[in-house]
Amino acid sequence: MNYLPKLKQINDKYRMFHAMTPDTESDAKFLFSAKDNLTSIDMETCAGSRILGGYRPAFDATAIAKLRDAGGKLIGKTNMDEFGFGTFSTNSGWEIPRNPHDLERACGGSSGGSACAASALEGHVSLGVSTGGSICCPASFCGVYGIAPTYGRVSRYGLIDYGNSLDKIGVLSSDARDLRRYMDVIKGKDPKDPTSCVQPDGWGEASLKSVAVPKEGIEGLSKDVESAFRKFADEMVRMGVDVDYVDMPSLKYAMPAYYVLATSEASTNLARYVGMRYGQQEGDLSLKFDDYFSSFRSKYFGDEAKRRILLGTFTRMAGYSDRYYAKARQVRNVVINDYKRVLADHDAVLAPTMPFTAPRFDEISKMSALDSYKADYLTVPANLAGTPHMSLPCGYDPNGMPVGMQFVADHWNEGVLFDIAERWQSEFELKRPEVSV
Ligand code: GLN
Repeated sequence: MNYLPKLKQINDKYRMFHAMTPDTESDAKFLFSAKDNLTSIDMETCAGSRILGGYRPAFDATAIAKLRDAGGKLIGKTNMDEFGFGTFSTNSGWEIPRNPHDLERACGGSSGGSACAASALEGHVSLGVSTGGSICCPASFCGVYGIAPTYGRVSRYGLIDYGNSLDKIGVLSSDARDLRRYMDVIKGKDPKDPTSCVQPDGWGEASLKSVAVPKEGIEGLSKDVESAFRKFADEMVRMGVDVDYVDMPSLKYAMPAYYVLATSEASTNLARYVGMRYGQQEGDLSLKFDDYFSSFRSKYFGDEAKRRILLGTFTRMAGYSDRYYAKARQVRNVVINDYKRVLADHDAVLAPTMPFTAPRFDEISKMSALDSYKADYLTVPANLAGTPHMSLPCGYDPNGMPVGMQFVADHWNEGVLFDIAERWQSEFELKRPEVSV
């Protein structure tokens, strides 16, 4: 289907794009979109924030440049939670993407627009970014495949940072084979990003034979997700995968540790937005600098960004940093060791991606910030560990909303994730949402 002629109407309905191409035809090899925290020469880049309104970067992010070099056309920049701060894309300073399976429900976050595009547009691939689960969560809510690779696998050059020690660029698509296909294009060491790694050839082991299910990963699930998980575990056994139940006690502490580390890093990253360099710059220049940037930041940052600046500044403060920041780093090591221990005898760790299916917007508006943070307890551990992880669509709840399962593999071992996703795709009937405009 050539959806370009109708892109504007599609976007009016689903609101996946913050900026998009005006072109109605293209002879490109493939069409792709990218989360709006990846810089692009030809389109405004705002990372979901009003503070970056009008920002036109002078360069492409490496991941975008590589996809263009491979013959792809960038058709849009996808709506997201401001700077990646959120789980439902409702913390966007711009538009909030709608779930293609039910417009009254969220797409997940923070790469919600990317999952929305991957779900609604046929043959489309989208770049997402995960700091604490922002690829797998929306992939699961929108019923598509999504991979966050090993930390350092893909260059972060051109990425507007949230938490530098956590951010990873990955791929979302309705076709499992696209994940390997496009990760092959965007991976690799980049001299422009010193944290991108020289990496082993290929994707590690080829086939997935065994998984470990942490008991901590199947607690606190909604009834629908729990029953979908039981069914999926049986399917795995039928497909010849050994399923073991194990203890991973550190998983319980990952969520609080993540929010300490992520907000600490975020609060320093946001310090550069003072109304002098990027995006919005109007302000009262007769004010003293402190007053100028305080009034500017008060006006253009959303509530969640402000909350994270306060939290992250507090956890790094002299007198408190040992108790919070340093402690959280210790917890991070314990989580890494727990994965290493379990992955020494298993090819992957398996649990549902999210504890519930896509909530309605009215339900989200009743959630506190803490309720929303808690929803991430299944996705943050792998992000803290820097291990690659993938969400696979595995079924639908009684409302027809997709359920996702998450596999976590060892560092540099994405191969087992591609293998299980491709095998699963040949068995599973993906229900594409009906897109009418
Ligand atoms: N929901 C998590 C957060 O708000 C993860 C977001 C992300 O990965 N960008 O921090």
